[in-house]
Amino acid sequence: MAHDCYYITTPIYYVNAVPHIGNAYTTVCCDVLARFHRQLGQEVLFATGTDEHALKVREVAEGLGMTPLAYVDTMEPKFKQQWASLEIAFDDYIRTPEKRHVEMVQKVFKKLLDSGDIYLGSYEGWYCVSDETFFTKTEVTDERCPNPECRKPLSWVKEENYFFRLSKYQKPLLEYMTSHAGWLKPEYRANEVIAFTRAGLKDQSVSRTNNGWGIPVPGDEKHVIYVWFDALLNYLTVAGYLSDDKKFARVWPPAVQMMGKDIFVRFHCTLWPAMLMALEVAVPDMLVGHGFWTVDGEKISKSKGNVVYATALIRELAELSGSPEDIAADAIRYFLLREVPFGSDGDFSKQALISRFNSDLANDLGNLLNRTLSMLHRYFGGEVPPGAKNNEELAHQADTLAKEVRAALDDIQFSKALEAIWEFVSSGNKYVEQNAPWALHREGKETELAEVLYNTLETARVVTVLIAPFMPSAATKMWRQLGLKGSPGSVNWEKDVRFGGLKSGTKCGSADPIFPRIDTAKSTLQSKDQKSEATKPLIQFDEFKKLDIRIARILNAEHVEGADKLLKLTVDTGENEPRTVVAGIAQHYQAETLPGRSIVLLANLAPAKIRGVESQGMLLAADVDGRAILLQPDQNEEAPPGAIVR
Ligand SMILES: [Zn+2]
Repeated sequence: MAHDCYYITTPIYYVNAVPHIGNAYTTVCCDVLARFHRQLGQEVLFATGTDEHALKVREVAEGLGMTPLAYVDTMEPKFKQQWASLEIAFDDYIRTPEKRHVEMVQKVFKKLLDSGDIYLGSYEGWYCVSDETFFTKTEVTDERCPNPECRKPLSWVKEENYFFRLSKYQKPLLEYMTSHAGWLKPEYRANEVIAFTRAGLKDQSVSRTNNGWGIPVPGDEKHVIYVWFDALLNYLTVAGYLSDDKKFARVWPPAVQMMGKDIFVRFHCTLWPAMLMALEVAVPDMLVGHGFWTVDGEKISKSKGNVVYATALIRELAELSGSPEDIAADAIRYFLLREVPFGSDGDFSKQALISRFNSDLANDLGNLLNRTLSMLHRYFGGEVPPGAKNNEELAHQADTLAKEVRAALDDIQFSKALEAIWEFVSSGNKYVEQNAPWALHREGKETELAEVLYNTLETARVVTVLIAPFMPSAATKMWRQLGLKGSPGSVNWEKDVRFGGLKSGTKCGSADPIFPRIDTAKSTLQSKDQKSEATKPLIQFDEFKKLDIRIARILNAEHVEGADKLLKLTVDTGENEPRTVVAGIAQHYQAETLPGRSIVLLANLAPAKIRGVESQGMLLAADVDGRAILLQPDQNEEAPPGAIVR
C-alpha cells in the first residue's frame, strides 16, 4: 500500500517499570525503521508512549501515599531518559491519561455501543489483578494464575461488565489472516495466531468496576474501560482519529506495529484488528512480534538481579572504551540488531557485546575508514586526489548491497541488512590488502595509489549512508571525517548509496578512531562467567584424569544452518568412526581452510544438541577477546589423531 506517511508504533509500555534492555529492543527496532524511511525522504510518524491506567498503578501509588496521576508523572522523565540515551527519535509520545486520548476512547466506546458491538452483560469467573486478565474455569487448576510467569492467587469476581463482540469477528479475521501473507511477521508466528483464532474467540470484557482510576465508560461512570481496550486505542489517538480527519487520512493505517511476542497473539493480532473492523477502519499493514532477550543465558528478572538498563550500560561501555556515550549507545544498538536473526530469542552478555565492539566496529569498520584516512593524510595531505576511476567491482557490489539492505528492512530483517553491509566492509578491507597502497607509495605508483585510496573512501562513504539508521552518531562522525556536508541521515538515498559520490579535492578530517578498541585485559565490564573463571578452585589429579583430551584431525567443515558462528566439523579421533563436533569458530576460520588441520578435542564431554546437530565432544581453543584461536601440535613432530593430551 502506498503511504503519504510512514506510521510506525511501539506498544505503549506499562508505566510502572522502566523498560530494561530487553524491552527497549522494540523501541530501537522501530527507531531504525523510522530513521530509514526518513532517509528515503518519506514523512514519518514514529510513536511510543506509556500505558498508565492499570489497576497496579493505583495500588503502587497508594503504597507511596500518592495519587495515581502524581505517581505516573514521576515515571515519564525516567522513560524519556532511557529513550534519549538510546538515541530514540520518536515523533509523538502518548500517555493514556492525556485529554486527547481520554476523549477519543470515550467516543469510540460510544460508537461501538451504538452499533451494538459493545453490550452490557455480566461476568463471573477468575481474575488475575496482576495480569488484568480473566481466565476460564478450564484454564484454572489451583486458584492461581495460569500464566506461568505470574502464578499469583486469583480472585473470584462477579460483576456487571460491558463486552466487545469479538466472536463476531472470528470469521472475518481468519479470512483476512489467511489471505494476506506477510501481514503478520515473522511468518512462523502467524501460524500461532491462526491456530488461536481458529480455536474460537469469545466476547471480550471491556470494562471494570470504577475504583477511581481509568477512563470512565461514557454515560455509566460505575465502570471504567478495560486497560487493554484503552491502551490499544492509543494508535488511533496518535493518528488523529475522530479529531483531525486530514491527518488521519494521511497517516492511517500504520505501516508497521511492533511488539514483543507476549502481547502479539492475543491482543495485537486478534482483539486489536477486530476493534478496527468494528469501527470500519483499515487494519495496520504489518504486525510484527519479536523474540525475547535473556542475560547471560537467564531470563531477565529483578529477583535474579540481572536487569540491564540502557542508561547504565551505555555509561559503563563509554567508560570502558573511552568513547562518548552516543558512540557507546550506537554500539549497543548495533549489537542488539546484529546478534540475532529478527524474531528469534537472543542472549545478551557483556562479553558478547565487547567482542562485537572489538571485531565488527573497532576492527572491521575502524580499519576501513581510519587506516585509509591516515594514508590519505600521509600521501595526499588529507585531500581526495583527482582523476580516480570507480573500481567496477566495488561499484557493482554497492548497487546490489543497497537493494539488499532495502529488501531486508522492508522484510524487518535487521541482522540480514547488517550482515550484507559488513560483507561490503570486508570487501573494502580486502581491496586495500590486495592492492597494498603502502607498497604502491613505496614504488612511486601515484595514479594507482590515488585510485585505491579513493575507492576505499568511497566504500566507507556508502557504508556510512547505510549504517546511519542503525548508528546515527557514529555515521555522522564518519561523514564529517570524510569531509562531507549535511548528515548521512538526510541524504538523497537513491543517489547517495551509489558509487562515485566523493568529489576530488574534498578535504577529509583527521583519522581519529570512532570505536577505540577495548583492552579486554583491563576490562571491568566482565560477565559473570569471566569472573568465575578467574577464581576457579584447585582440582586434584584424579579429577583431571577423568578428562579425555586428544588430538583429532578435521576431515570436513561446513556451516550450521541459521547460525553464523557455528561450524559442523567431522573429525578423525583415531577411533573406528569419525565424530561430529559443533564449534563456534565460523567467524574467525573459513570452513574451506580447515580440513587437514589438527585440533585438540575434549572427547568425553557428554554429547549435546546444538542447533539440531549432535556435538560429540568439544574443540578446545584459546579465548582471546572472545575470538577462538585454534591450538595445534608442534609442527615439527607427528601427533596423530587419537594421541592423548595430558
Ligand atoms: Zn497473573
